[in-house]
Amino acid sequence: MKTLVLIDSDALTRALIAQCLAGREWRVFEAEDGQAGLDLVVKHKPIAVLCDLRTPKRNGFQVCRWIREQPSLQPTRVILMTVSRFANDRETAFAAGADDYLIKPIAPPELIRTMAACRDNGEAAPAEPAPEDIASGPTLIRFWGVRGSIPTPGRDTSTYGGNTSCVEIRVGGQIIILDAGSGIRRLGQSLMKEVSTTGLNVLILVTHTHWDHIQGFPFFVPAYHPKVNIRILGYEGAVHGLRGALFEQMQTAFFPVGLNQMATHLTFEELTDMQFNLGVVKVRTMFANHPGICLGYRLSTPSGDIVYMPDHEAYERCEVERQRAERTASPDGLAYARIQDEKVVDFLRDADLVIADSQYDAIEYPSRRGWGHTCADDTVQLAMRAGAKRLALFHHDPDHSDEKIATMVERAQSEVAQNDGKLVVTAAREGEEISL
Ligand SMILES: [Zn+2]
Ligand SMILES: [Zn+2]
Repeated sequence: MKTLVLIDSDALTRALIAQCLAGREWRVFEAEDGQAGLDLVVKHKPIAVLCDLRTPKRNGFQVCRWIREQPSLQPTRVILMTVSRFANDRETAFAAGADDYLIKPIAPPELIRTMAACRDNGEAAPAEPAPEDIASGPTLIRFWGVRGSIPTPGRDTSTYGGNTSCVEIRVGGQIIILDAGSGIRRLGQSLMKEVSTTGLNVLILVTHTHWDHIQGFPFFVPAYHPKVNIRILGYEGAVHGLRGALFEQMQTAFFPVGLNQMATHLTFEELTDMQFNLGVVKVRTMFANHPGICLGYRLSTPSGDIVYMPDHEAYERCEVERQRAERTASPDGLAYARIQDEKVVDFLRDADLVIADSQYDAIEYPSRRGWGHTCADDTVQLAMRAGAKRLALFHHDPDHSDEKIATMVERAQSEVAQNDGKLVVTAAREGEEISL
C-alpha cells in the first residue's frame, strides 16, 4: 500500500479524492488543516502529500516548505492543489518545492495519472551504488570550469578555460560534482555516455548560489533524463533557499524550460550540519568570508583529502587594507583577522589538494577589497602554513588572460621556493585531471 496524506479544509473534497483513490493501492490519511496534516506526515512518512493551498493553521506553501526542509522526507512528493488560477501562485508553489500543481476541480483521470506518477517514480529510481562499488579505486578530480564571476570564452583564455566553477570528483563509482557553473554543461554531456539501463547517481554539492556557481545547471543534460538520480546539496543562502535560487533562474523571464520539467529524480537537501558523510566520503564544511552564505568543503576520501574553497577573502589582508584605506590603526582588529585566517589554515591542514580562490594579485587586491575574493599570495601562504601538498589556484578573474595566470603561477612558485619549497602550485585548468 502507498501512503498519502491529504490536507484540505473541505470535507467533501477530501471524501471525493479518497473515494477516487480507493482500490488503487492508496491508503489515505486525511487532515483538515496544515498543522494536523504535518503531524500525519511526520507519523506516516507518506510517499505523497496532496495539500490545498488555502488551509488553516499552516497554508499549502508552508506545508510544502516545511517538508522540503526535512532530509528524511526528501523522497516524499508534494502536490499542491488550489482553486486559484493565478500564475504567481503556481510559480510560488514550485519555488516552495512542490513536485506538481493541480487546479480544482480535479478531474478523476488527472488525479489518478498524477498519483500513478508518484508510484512509478519510486519504482524507477535507480538504486544507490553498493558501498563496495564506491569504496574502491583512486580519487579523480577533473576541472570543467575554473573561472570566477562570468564565463570568458576566447583566444586569451583558451589554455586555462573560460567556464565558471565546476569540478568533478570520482571516488570509485561515486560521482560528486562541486558547483554547477557553466562548466557543468560539458560534464553533463560526458556523463550521458555513462547512463546505463540501471541509471546513474549524481551528487551536486553547491558552495553558494551566486550565479557563477549555478548558471550551468539548466544546461546539465542528465537532469532531463528519467534514469538519472540527482541529489543537490547545499546551504540556504541569505535571501533564497537552494531550491528557490535554482528555480528562479529557470523562470520564464530567464529560461524557456522550468525546473519542474527536469527529471523527476531531482532532490534538494538544505544542509544544516557542518559535517556529514556521502558514501565513503567524509565531508567537513566551513563558512567562507564571502557575501551571503558561502561554504568551503573538505572531502576526505580513502585516497586523500581535497579542500574546495572557490570563493573566499582572506581576513588579514582585507583588514590591513581596510585600516590603510580608512587611515585607522586597530591592533585588535588585525589580531582578530589573523585568528580567522588560522581557522582556515586548520581547515586546509595537510590536505592533498587545495582548490582555492586566487582571483587577484597583490596590485589588484586593494581596489577590490570587500568583494569576497583572495589575493593569490595569501592563498599560497595559507596553503603552505597548513602543510597542504598541492594547491590549484582557482576562480580565475574574468579579466585575466592565460598569460596573466601563468605569471601568477610563476610568482606563487617563487613564493613557495623562498619558503620550504614543498607545496606544488599550479593554476586549475579546464580539462585537467588529477589523481590521488
Ligand atoms: Zn564565484
Ligand atoms: Zn560568490
